[in-house]
Amino acid sequence: MIVCKFGGTSVADAAAIRRTADIIRGRVDKQPVVVVSALAGATNALLGAAEQAATGHLVAAITAIEALRNRHMAVIADLLGDDAAALEIAADTSVMFDELAHLAEALSVLGHVTERSLDAISSMGEQLSAPIITAAFVRAGIDAVFVDSRLVMITDATFGRAEPLPDSIAAACRDHLAPIVRDGKVPVLGGYYGQTTTGVTTTLGRGGSDYSASLLGAALEADAIEIWTDVDGMLTADPRVVDGAKLIEHIRFDEAAELASFGAKVLHPNTIAPAVRRGIPVFVFNSLNPSGKGTRITFDAPRLPVRAIAGKANVVIVKVRSPRMLATPGALRAIFEVFERNRTSVDVVATSEVSVSLTVDDDQHLDSVVGQLREFGDVGVERGRAIVAIVGAGLGESSPTMAQALVALGDVRLHMVSLSASGINLTLIVDGDELKPVMRRLHASFFGAPAK
Ligand code: ADP
Ligand code: ASP
Ligand code: MG
Repeated sequence: MIVCKFGGTSVADAAAIRRTADIIRGRVDKQPVVVVSALAGATNALLGAAEQAATGHLVAAITAIEALRNRHMAVIADLLGDDAAALEIAADTSVMFDELAHLAEALSVLGHVTERSLDAISSMGEQLSAPIITAAFVRAGIDAVFVDSRLVMITDATFGRAEPLPDSIAAACRDHLAPIVRDGKVPVLGGYYGQTTTGVTTTLGRGGSDYSASLLGAALEADAIEIWTDVDGMLTADPRVVDGAKLIEHIRFDEAAELASFGAKVLHPNTIAPAVRRGIPVFVFNSLNPSGKGTRITFDAPRLPVRAIAGKANVVIVKVRSPRMLATPGALRAIFEVFERNRTSVDVVATSEVSVSLTVDDDQHLDSVVGQLREFGDVGVERGRAIVAIVGAGLGESSPTMAQALVALGDVRLHMVSLSASGINLTLIVDGDELKPVMRRLHASFFGAPAK
């Protein structure tokens, strides 16, 4: 059994969905379970409409919802024509859009939006796409069955970034997915959303369909998890930033996890953990180039000093300064507890005898964090920073590589530097506007300059 996940661009329109159907038709003997995203851009459009409705722009919100309705209806017409299945899907789709319009009206009356209602709305992208794609698969001769993810993706109630409950998911997969696969059929589910044990819709956070796929793969003890996207695999850097980024054919789980956490959007940061727990290989393939080699992610890729470079913007540094702080037992624990209480995760940490610097990329609760940290000393906040991560399992053992990185940086100002304890990730904190130039310089130094 394998799990195949198709991202937004792989199901963006009728042509993309046909390509996806071809890919699955060629894999039916591997017993695929298919996870799909919303049509490219649909989740953004839904969240935008919710925001507009809640801030007094109901007409704009309804206009956006109607545009999305037309787009889905056009895909249905193109893929399915006007046979009975098409009419049924079109009717169901229309009902969901009517519901969305009602939700928008409700938000505009309330004048505000909660995380819970945002999940109800943003999950609609996948709730809409999955049945349409299932019908297209059936039309393409695949024995596909739509399964509502809420039956299997059981989570806690942290709306917006719900925590999956692996035991409940495993039990639900045994009950609802395994029998379908045993019958020789292909289950198709929407990624990204699920529900609480009490039946309230949740989402796993933006880009969460990758995570859905790996959770289902782990629950089903799949032989492989395939992430189908719009690039040839994991590359040595984000190709939107660095010209000439190269395909990584084989990479270690720990390296892929670091890259995903530090900005390589090709994988949701949580994707790797469920696969690692069960030792399931993860592949990244291009749905526009299905015969490409792709990337294989396993435990045993050879250790290289530098595998790839990642980066992310909009990072905030929080600095706490107090005399002899580190000499006080428990000082760091107390500081980290402040972040924990405020549900803010810390990415990078650097300390000196009198100060601790930490980075966060979610500033939702920052005011409260800063208020509580003042108890320990002076607190400074620096916004608009960026993190660049140089990742390679052999990095910590290679002093020349670290020297090469610092030389490549030239006179770029570094606000923090940290080498992870396992020596796999050298993180550099730079000014936000240095992010792209620094990534390009480091990439050129380690992987060669792009061909002119
Ligand atoms: P999907 O909709 O298929 O989930 P995403 O847009 O979420 O696709 O992720 C794919 C994108 O990730 C690529 O188009 C690329 O711009 C970006 N990306 C960032 N870093 C990397 C990397 N190291 N390797 C490959 N792609 C990357
Ligand atoms: N559709 C969701 C998003 O855009 C989930 C995903 O595509 O992975 O965030
Ligand atoms: Mg994605």
